[in-house]
Amino acid sequence: MRCGLLGQSLKHSYSPLIHSFLGNDSYSLFSISPDALEAFLKEGSFTGINVTIPYKKAVIPYLDGLSDIARELGAVNTIIRRDGKLIGHNTDYYGFQAMLRRSGLLVKDKKVLVLGSGGASSTVQNVLRREGAKVVVISRNGENNYRNLYLHKDCAVLVNATPVGMYPNNGESPLDLQVFPQLEGVLDLIYNPSKTALLLQAEQRGLIIENGLWMLVAQAKQAAEFFMERHIPDSEIGRIHARLQLMMENTLLIGMPGCGKSTVGKLLAQKLGKEFVDCDSYIQQKAHMSIPEIFATQGEAAFRKLETVALLELSKRSGLVIATGGGCVTRPENKPYLRQNGKVIYLKRDLHSLSTEGRPLSQANRLEDMLRERKPLYESICDYCADNNGDISSTVNQILNFIAKEHSDENSCD
Ligand code: NAP
Repeated sequence: MRCGLLGQSLKHSYSPLIHSFLGNDSYSLFSISPDALEAFLKEGSFTGINVTIPYKKAVIPYLDGLSDIARELGAVNTIIRRDGKLIGHNTDYYGFQAMLRRSGLLVKDKKVLVLGSGGASSTVQNVLRREGAKVVVISRNGENNYRNLYLHKDCAVLVNATPVGMYPNNGESPLDLQVFPQLEGVLDLIYNPSKTALLLQAEQRGLIIENGLWMLVAQAKQAAEFFMERHIPDSEIGRIHARLQLMMENTLLIGMPGCGKSTVGKLLAQKLGKEFVDCDSYIQQKAHMSIPEIFATQGEAAFRKLETVALLELSKRSGLVIATGGGCVTRPENKPYLRQNGKVIYLKRDLHSLSTEGRPLSQANRLEDMLRERKPLYESICDYCADNNGDISSTVNQILNFIAKEHSDENSCD
């Protein structure tokens, strides 16, 4: 068996990893230029391939047959070679169906806005219409566009099928959700970052949110069934999704200066097999100055700006354990950076045990005042609060148990 992903300039893809989790180690990336597409399809030695941008439509003329859904959508994302014939399928349809089901959102007879009119949007629209939704496509140059969103105040569910907000353009959002008072949930096909600015805004309002990772894994599961000609249980989607989430997500430690974020972070990173980054050290390296020197020469406001840039850069990355500076929660603009790609852990330690060495603000301000100001901020931003008054390994175990529980809950949603 020889399988893989066909695209034009593939740099990084999670597909080989997902297919290896599904039991197929023969999966590789095929970056093919448009003028070589026909020869690749006709003469290539693959037994099954997935197809991505820009070839989902372009491959169709070279195929011998299409599944009903691929024909209806006019797009192919999986090709199987059997007895010398190439048959095109579309497993994104199954992928989005699975994502919608996982979200728990019911769309029958409700208005659902789909942002974007590209390939993924067609698939999403098709699934939603079959579920009985009243679908409206928002397209930059369409009749329904970003200038007349007020026409859709009754929108119940919104699906982002544009690349707006996708890495590396984290923080960008296609629209402001305030226009939609009746909104119940937001689905975003993007999975990097794990929470786009759009999803963060929806989360802030307490709405149901779901990113595109479930869809990615589900479409791969159905493609693998075609490749390997065997049934794969749906529970595999949950298992692989949890494994990927665990690998991809960052763990960010917040808490008072001197509460042990770096010490705990290093051990936690070792246990999780992840890279540890200390945000203050990162700032010092970039500024070529120590933190006390930055405070002395440029003041706290300048340090906070450097810290925001550092958080933006670090939180875009995946699979890190990040020890943040104690005051990072005081700037509201840092909140999305802290929450976009991972779990935030508030490390609590009694005031008399906090270290003040090399910490300009801890020495200058009374720690009680500082805690009074920051505690509600730490609590409102964190996903979990860990007590760090005992020994370090017990703190790390509390955090590991929390992470394990989060991912096992995810499996049980399956
Ligand atoms: P596409 O064919 O390029 O279509 C994207 C659409 O988004 C465009 O047709 C355009 O629609 C709109 N758009 C593009 N740039 C925009 C901008 N700057 N501002 C506002 N709208 C913009 O891409 P696609 O294949 O449909 O993929 C769309 C997104 O879904 C991507 O982020 C992709 O990674 C994701 N996706 C995820 C999965 C998954 O498994 N999770 C699967 C497929 C796709 P208008 O011109 O009508 O505005």
